Amino acid sequence: MKALQTLGVQESVRLWRYTTLKTGGPAEFFATAFQLDHLAELALSAQRHGIPVTTLGWGSNVLPSDRGVPGLVLHNATTQIEIDHRRVVADSGVGFQELFLKCLHRGLGGLEYAVGIPGTVGGALVSNAGAYRSNVSEFLTGLEIVHEGTRRWVEPTWMEFEYRDSRLRRPGAPTCTILRIEMLLPLADLKKSYDEARDYQRQRIGKQPPPASAGSFFKNVNDPDLAAGLDSLPPRLKEAGVVPAGYLIQEAGLAGARLGGAMLTNRHANFMVNAHGATASDVRSLASFAIEKVEAKFGVRLEEEVLYLGDWSDWVALAGVQLG
Ligand SMILES: Cc1cc2nc3c(=O)[nH]c(=O)nc-3n(C[C@H](O)[C@H](O)[C@H](O)COP(=O)(O)OP(=O)(O)OC[C@H]3O[C@@H](n4cnc5c(N)ncnc54)[C@H](O)[C@@H]3O)c2cc1C
Repeated sequence: MKALQTLGVQESVRLWRYTTLKTGGPAEFFATAFQLDHLAELALSAQRHGIPVTTLGWGSNVLPSDRGVPGLVLHNATTQIEIDHRRVVADSGVGFQELFLKCLHRGLGGLEYAVGIPGTVGGALVSNAGAYRSNVSEFLTGLEIVHEGTRRWVEPTWMEFEYRDSRLRRPGAPTCTILRIEMLLPLADLKKSYDEARDYQRQRIGKQPPPASAGSFFKNVNDPDLAAGLDSLPPRLKEAGVVPAGYLIQEAGLAGARLGGAMLTNRHANFMVNAHGATASDVRSLASFAIEKVEAKFGVRLEEEVLYLGDWSDWVALAGVQLG
């Protein structure tokens, strides 16, 4: 720990204010990095001293345990973007939407769907974030990481991307801080790109949850057999073999369900919100309840898109869900 003290590390910092769900316990150690080299130095130092590191962007896809997160939480506030012809190098702390806008200003497209995704480039990469059938790994050509105590560039294949998934999300994931990314973007048809982005934004305004949420809590289910058997599923989803998690939760009668301060919204049942002072345990318990009920009714197990951070050992789901 001494090694980290000179790098601006604080102790016992409450994390709720660094998450969009506005809940969760303290980080054992916490630091904000505004510069790339500072981010790298903190990650290297912690990794070399065997201190667990959790890198946090805008906290829009995480639920830290009420008990807190052991080790160092590294809050990534880096901001640099370099654009040279079609090659873009961006710090992992850059906002994903900001990256899209800056690139479009320089005549580059391909990231239109990023409008309205409230997170950093680093966070987007970890979950292979995307929308409207696109995802962030598409134009990625390399990434700079700190892993096993060294700083180096790796190929995109290192991340083992899948739908809304990468190796950094999986159980037993390696400790890794993404520092920067490199992309090769296509030239944009400016009018088409702006129109597309505006259209995406309009669609989002109609669907987006109120503040204090983490967006969609569960991943959509890719299951052609299930999709084919659901009479009320729109034909285009049947064709695609995709069942929205919100559809399953709604059909299981859980839209509007509440537990403590956590709620699955009526407007979109896959949006879990912190309606009123929810604890992380309220949120996770309501999520567990939804998983159970959907599995009982449809035989599929919903998978969380939101990542649970920190110490959830011995956690037991709370009872007392009130249906909406
Ligand atoms: C209203 C709303 C709408 C949303 N819409 C979408 C959507 O359309 N599509 C979509 O895919 N997602 C969506 N999300 C989810 C979320 O915004 C994205 O997953 C986003 O990319 C997460 O970025 P973040 O910086 O907030 O990551 P965080 O939540 O801070 O972190 C997420 C995970 O990534 C890890 N991580 C973050 N940065 C780094 C780094 N530099 N190095 C290593 N690990 C890192 C964290 O440890 C954590 O495990 C939405 C969320 C909200 C609240």
